[in-house]
Amino acid sequence: MRKKIVAGNWKMNKTPSETKAFAEQFKAILPKTKWCDIVVCVPTVDLSAAVRAFKDSRIAVGAENVYFEKSGAYTGEIAANMLLDAGCKYVILGHSERRAMGETNADVNAKVLAALDNGLIPIMCVGESLEQREAGITEEWITMQIKTGLASIGEDKIRKMIIAYEPIWAIGTGKTATPEQAEEVCEHIRAVIRKLYGAKVARAISILYGGSMNEKNAYDLLAQPDIDGGLIGGASLVPEKFVKIIEAANQPTI
Ligand code: PEP
Repeated sequence: MRKKIVAGNWKMNKTPSETKAFAEQFKAILPKTKWCDIVVCVPTVDLSAAVRAFKDSRIAVGAENVYFEKSGAYTGEIAANMLLDAGCKYVILGHSERRAMGETNADVNAKVLAALDNGLIPIMCVGESLEQREAGITEEWITMQIKTGLASIGEDKIRKMIIAYEPIWAIGTGKTATPEQAEEVCEHIRAVIRKLYGAKVARAISILYGGSMNEKNAYDLLAQPDIDGGLIGGASLVPEKFVKIIEAANQPTI
């Protein structure tokens, strides 16, 4: 049975002091969550404040990027073992905002491998632009992103991963995919995984939807059979909104 996962992506928001204040408010209103795992992915500079603030809670901390090299002369970059040692459990990889800054599918693949080799759980993002959707090539595009992102990743490793479907046109725009649109692509992602790794792996892997998910649309999106949770940007910055999405995800799977 796949557990639901709700992961926040703070992007470039909140200072370490604001992280501490958020954690206090968030923990105070968070209900018991039996059917849902919670992750908060924060800017690197906030990691230590987040790890400290969420210690002894069921909230895991994640990073928003990693570098694929192990160590060396890469000024400004952070290696996977550093994130693990800092208390990170998850890392978002291949977010469209990073791809827009020049990250390639090969980079995403190298980062996924580095994360897995160091025991981090990658949340690998894929998604189409509005032009690609309108041109009718969404499935082809997503298939290519999945196949290249997962190159050289064997069955033992894929089981430790999460995939997030994030249509670029829905991120930070307030334009959510309809539950049917989101389900269609998440179902397709599962079919691609089935072809690559077999039915057992496809049944077990968690696929999240991300793109303007909020406290109002979360119930319908999360009720879809192939949507196992959400990657949440804007709404994860506000404890009350983030908690409402978690409540929507915290439902027993039938
Ligand atoms: C995101 O950044 O991954 C995201 C889904 O953002 P938003 O929820 O703000 O659209």
